[in-house]
Amino acid sequence: MTERCRQETFVTQIGNRKDEPFHAVSTPVYFSTAFRHTEISSNEGYDYSRCGSPTRDVLEEAVAQLEYGDKAFATASGMAAVHLVFSLFHKNTHFISSRDIYGGNYRLFAMLQDKYGFEFTYWEGDCYDTLASNIKENTQAIFIESPTNPLMRTVDLVKVSNIAKQYDLLLIVDNTLYTPLIQQPIKEGADIVIHSATKYLAGHNDVLAGLVIAKGEKLSKQLAFLHQSIGTVLSPYDCFSLIRGIKTLALRMEKQESNAKQIVPYLQQHPLVTDVYYPGRGGMVSFEILDEVYAPLFLKAVQLFTFAESLGGVESFITYPVTQTHMDIPEEIRNAYGLSNRLLRISAGIEHANDLIADLNQAFDLIVKEDVKQT
Ligand SMILES: *Cc1c(COP(=O)(O)O)cnc(C)c1O
Repeated sequence: MTERCRQETFVTQIGNRKDEPFHAVSTPVYFSTAFRHTEISSNEGYDYSRCGSPTRDVLEEAVAQLEYGDKAFATASGMAAVHLVFSLFHKNTHFISSRDIYGGNYRLFAMLQDKYGFEFTYWEGDCYDTLASNIKENTQAIFIESPTNPLMRTVDLVKVSNIAKQYDLLLIVDNTLYTPLIQQPIKEGADIVIHSATKYLAGHNDVLAGLVIAKGEKLSKQLAFLHQSIGTVLSPYDCFSLIRGIKTLALRMEKQESNAKQIVPYLQQHPLVTDVYYPGRGGMVSFEILDEVYAPLFLKAVQLFTFAESLGGVESFITYPVTQTHMDIPEEIRNAYGLSNRLLRISAGIEHANDLIADLNQAFDLIVKEDVKQT
């Protein structure tokens, strides 16, 4: 296989032609935590599975290539991946983060602020003129989610990375929502990419996993040391499940994006919807319902969409960010940047678009009826 075939070809072939002894097409799962030595200072490439395992290597090598990085590190969750990256820094370091981010990231940053004296400044994410004015003497990195979550604004990573380079800062991008099929942040100048692989990459709501991808030898070495020292590694079986998930990523993404693109115009024309947020790519759509009181009714009324707290899987989900994914962001901060109690977030799955739209439609009809009854 050539070095750079198309991404959809590459993902399908992960692990194939890797198993030397038996030519297994599907990546073998090595459960052994220990590997026998024949003599002192000699091994067959592995000695203890926290420090490296053959199954994890297949995953990490593939993901590094998929994200145009040099090294990848598979972790036990997306949050473990974010924490691993922030363990690169010393106390009293200052960071700039896009403001509209996953609530779990916000919660972790608050913890790092309290315990390790890290400092975070939240920046709009698409106001490039104001970015540099937030940089301080102790600033070391910029953390970006693009599209932002849940308001789905895209951030111009090239513009941000130019500023990062100018001030000698690292650019860290959480690429969970777009995946490397839509956006390759390292190609746009990022130094580190993070994934909650639990979402699109695994894709079936049955694997909790994270990934860190690093550009350059220095960061790769530092992260390799921290990964094995802290031990936030992904188990061999989960590595196998994640590889299997990634093989169909291109196929799923195409369908999820196509479903999202059909849901968007339906929502836009609906009288009970005031705003629809869709960045033009991917399978995530947020919208604001006319009145806050409709949100709980709507979540009860859906029958095909699952009211659940995740995204990126084959089943369509609907989430209420303010009580779920983003509940750790204080209400006044949320309101200040437009994350209102009227916002619902859809993760389009791979079902038939007409069935998804019919489900949304019957849910809207039901809340109108409820409303008429009450008034
Ligand atoms: C879910 C999510 C995370 C956290 O990942 P887990 O796998 O749940 O630990 C981080 N960033 C984003 C954008 C997410 O959606």
